[in-house]
Amino acid sequence: MHRDHSLTFWPAAVSDGRLCVKAMSCLFCRILDGSIPSQAVYQDDECYAFADINPQAPVHILVIPRAHIASTAEAGKEHSALIGHLFLAAAEIARSKGLTKGYRSVINTGSDGGQTVDHLHVHLLGGRPMTWPPG
Ligand code: 5GP
Ligand code: ZN
Repeated sequence: MHRDHSLTFWPAAVSDGRLCVKAMSCLFCRILDGSIPSQAVYQDDECYAFADINPQAPVHILVIPRAHIASTAEAGKEHSALIGHLFLAAAEIARSKGLTKGYRSVINTGSDGGQTVDHLHVHLLGGRPMTWPPG
């Protein structure tokens, strides 16, 4: 059967019960649906964590919500618990990776924030001392 892919929606494109057309082309939604492979680190009902393809530290993991939210700039009050959950998942992963001396968990937002993938994600960086301020 011919399928018009411009009209194809993936389950991962469901955000808060609404189908989000933008999510169809989202790299991290495609990682979530398995069409792009990733190295899984942790997952639960709300989030998925995987190794960053271009690690900036000995440990560099991305924690993403299963729901497509473009960035913290697009997030609303209804996402408060979810965003908290992402940081606590990062803390749990940090424990499991033995990052006893600390780590950095950070969200980049927008072009000035250095965001390159428009699906909200927490970077978990560890295994070396971090510098401040970040570049
Ligand atoms: P941002 O720059 O948006 O804060 O972070 C995006 C991150 O996604 C970058 O650290 C980049 O290395 C990572 N990334 C981009 N494409 C892929 C990919 O296909 N697979 C994985 N595992 N990470 C990716
Ligand atoms: Zn997405």
